[in-house]
Amino acid sequence: MDIADFPKFPLAHLPTPLELLPHLSRELGGPEIFVKRDDCTGLASGGNKTRKLEYLIGEALENQADTIVTVGATQSNHVRQTIAAAAKAGLACEVLLEQAVTRDDDYEANGNVLLDRLMGATIHTCEPSDDLNRDGQALANELAQKGANPTFIPLGGSSPLGALGYVECAFELLTQTILLNIEMSAIFVATGSQGTQAGLLVGLAAEGNSTPVHGIAVSRPGDQQAELVLDLTRRTEALLELGPIVPEGSVLCDGGYYGPGYGQPNDAMVEAVRLCARLEGLILDPVYSGKAMAGLIDKIRNGAYTKQDKVVFIHTGGQAALGAYRSVFD
Ligand SMILES: *Cc1c(COP(=O)(O)O)cnc(C)c1O
Repeated sequence: MDIADFPKFPLAHLPTPLELLPHLSRELGGPEIFVKRDDCTGLASGGNKTRKLEYLIGEALENQADTIVTVGATQSNHVRQTIAAAAKAGLACEVLLEQAVTRDDDYEANGNVLLDRLMGATIHTCEPSDDLNRDGQALANELAQKGANPTFIPLGGSSPLGALGYVECAFELLTQTILLNIEMSAIFVATGSQGTQAGLLVGLAAEGNSTPVHGIAVSRPGDQQAELVLDLTRRTEALLELGPIVPEGSVLCDGGYYGPGYGQPNDAMVEAVRLCARLEGLILDPVYSGKAMAGLIDKIRNGAYTKQDKVVFIHTGGQAALGAYRSVFD
């Protein structure tokens, strides 16, 4: 099936800009660094989940859903964007927030949680779970028994359907690189629930482009993350009725930058967030893009790229979480 045949509900401000970061590039003395501004997708402070939600809400509306159910960590950007998308589509929204990261009062109530509450979703909370999608699906089943017609959207919106948003982003990015006459040496992106990296890989491969996509893992070791990304990549190919087009060896995930754990700050993240803010007025986030940028900075300092190289960093958003991490940047 062609990607254009899937129902879509328009939510994102597209195309997002592709911009050079001149000061950061000069400071690091390595490649020219470009940023794809997917933090500027426009919905309730933006981020990468909005592209996925265009397809996920599109399908929910086609199925005449009246309620969206989803899940995430307390400071989930996906949950915040899903609540906003449901509001725009005129649907009720119930979310299940997993209390898996222990921090402070700001973490519990500021940042994304503040916005979630403003937008009026019904918020349920739960203890750390071994299968949050199962718990979210159970909540949806309960609502169905009470007469609602819910659609469950999995963690991070990372079903094959959601990943189509990043197949489309790859097409958009390739068009921009042609217009700007840039030959990419590499793409860097944070990877968590895998939909973003899987979608990018399928989109690039569908266009015959083999630019390496370096996923910087935010929640698990690189080999485990790569296995999950490959699995979603294959399922996304299948949804589009494409044979395997992404070579297995091209799923690159690096688990060297997320320690001590998901949503837990580290020094390299804080340095990356500060550097981009001060040099470029570019605001990263503490959980995803800050750690991914820390990975890119580390590779550049270790000589992975020359001045002739051009590297694209996909800014996946997440700034709404900054207020929840206020004490980290004091
Ligand atoms: C969810 C998220 C990611 C990771 O994308 P996945 O598709 O879940 O791998 C990266 N950055 C931000 C800011 C996010 O919210």
